[in-house]
Amino acid sequence: MELDIIKNGYLECDKGFVTLGRGMGNKVKIPVFCFLVKHEKGNVLVDTGFSSDFQETWGKRLKFYQPILETDVIKYLRGIKIDFIINTHLHIDHCENNSSFIGSDIIIQKKEYESAISPKIYQKLAYQDNFNGNLKYRIIEGRLDLFSDGKIIIIPTSGHTEGHQSVFINLNGKRIFIAGDACYSSENLKYNCLPGILWNPDKIIECYEMIRGLRGVQVIFGHEELIPS
Ligand SMILES: [Zn+2]
Repeated sequence: MELDIIKNGYLECDKGFVTLGRGMGNKVKIPVFCFLVKHEKGNVLVDTGFSSDFQETWGKRLKFYQPILETDVIKYLRGIKIDFIINTHLHIDHCENNSSFIGSDIIIQKKEYESAISPKIYQKLAYQDNFNGNLKYRIIEGRLDLFSDGKIIIIPTSGHTEGHQSVFINLNGKRIFIAGDACYSSENLKYNCLPGILWNPDKIIECYEMIRGLRGVQVIFGHEELIPS
């Protein structure tokens, strides 16, 4: 199995949106990633990132989160068949390119799908205005071992959003946890900082505790530069 980490780009925003209550008033650039997992039984893309049209979509209405594109994920993946997409959640920076993967099975928690169709008022700006629910969404509730071999395991990690999910990868014996926005960064984890956009603070802290308890696992945070290991 292979893992290709694609850096989609950055979001520029006030640090207070990343680590609520810490460093407010400072501008930061936080990275956005997608992950291509090449499994023997199919290619899996974890999150699809924001698109090259961002100035017309996200950038136009979410002035306090400015995207900076580094890799056009669609162009980068041209010619590679994506069998499955796992969206950690459906905030625009994690799923805007979904519509370009016609035919892929898109795996999402039921609560997340419902949230994207009808977002809560306080999360509306983070979801797409024109969410296309007519793709091949495969709605799940709870844990899923995608190929029933322990190599790609999806677990629910609600908190940042109600239907958030994260992914455990067993990469030829190396265990990796793709947190998504269950935890933005190691600083969030260290200081129990909430993210600026959230659904349930208590559930977020539960996620942090679960992540702290992981042993022998490389954690990839949702919006933190990768630390080479
Ligand atoms: Zn998010």
